[in-house]
Amino acid sequence: MKLIDLHTHTLASDGTDSPAELVAKAREAGLAAVAVTDHDTVAGLEQACEAGRALGIDVIRGCELSTSSEHGELHILGLFLPEDTGPLADVLMELRARRSKRNEKIVDKLRALGMDISKDEVRELARGESVGRPHIASVMLRRGHVSCVQEAFKRYLGYNGKAYLPKEVLHPREAVRALVEVGATVCLAHPMLRKYPSGWLQAFTAKLVDYGLTAIEVWHSEHSEADVRACLSLARRFNLGVSGGSDYHGANKSGIALGKGYGKLRVGIDVLENLLQRRAALGL
Ligand code: AMP
Ligand code: ZN
Ligand code: FE
Ligand code: FE
Repeated sequence: MKLIDLHTHTLASDGTDSPAELVAKAREAGLAAVAVTDHDTVAGLEQACEAGRALGIDVIRGCELSTSSEHGELHILGLFLPEDTGPLADVLMELRARRSKRNEKIVDKLRALGMDISKDEVRELARGESVGRPHIASVMLRRGHVSCVQEAFKRYLGYNGKAYLPKEVLHPREAVRALVEVGATVCLAHPMLRKYPSGWLQAFTAKLVDYGLTAIEVWHSEHSEADVRACLSLARRFNLGVSGGSDYHGANKSGIALGKGYGKLRVGIDVLENLLQRRAALGL
């Protein structure tokens, strides 16, 4: 069975491979298809698609949006985006503007704590247009203010850190609708990363389905076999398509390989074929 990976990040957001490098690695790994799903940007898609055409691997255009819930952030993937993202482009631009403001405030907090770092340095290191905490952590590391990225998050950037600031994200309804509007397959990403009160995820998914959710990410690097079963059961209950991917971030998430995750991930091409059939049935 040919294998695929429908969740990856490039330098356009907080991955470390250029889109062309990522697609080349996916090809080397023997994958038949890869979706590029950067946070809040589609800037890497053109290069990724060009590499895909040159190398003979199917590249699916995507992005990942963060949304809020009473139990923290939940992420939504848009898959099969059109070349012209129209109204979605405006939403993404607004989200990146919010990121910039937040990053500046975080840098100010770190400077007030005595760290010699600047927002320009963070932007330069990031290289892409969607900048976030992993980039700030890398600058802190490079400047010797922490000894590893984990320490940067634990002491400063993470939820209980001294320079923590929440991200202003979208309401789930806005995120789903922005993706529905451009004809994307709208997929709830890695739903099992955190534990929720019994029944909560099901109720949340029901709301997303009302807004226009059409798929759920069943297979993910951090999903256990029990998590996969729970997601399959949600998919059946709400008649959702099923998706899967590694959430590859290059060197920013060490140990995660394209198509393999931490080693056990395996997403067959039938998953992609099924998603395409569902799109065709919807006239997409
Ligand atoms: P942001 O989008 O700026 O809020 O940053 C979120 C990203 O930071 C996530 O995608 C993770 O990759 C990364 N991240 C969050 N918490 C940690 C942590 N404790 N250690 C390393 N990376 C983290
Ligand atoms: Zn990320
Ligand atoms: Fe995510
Ligand atoms: Fe992701």
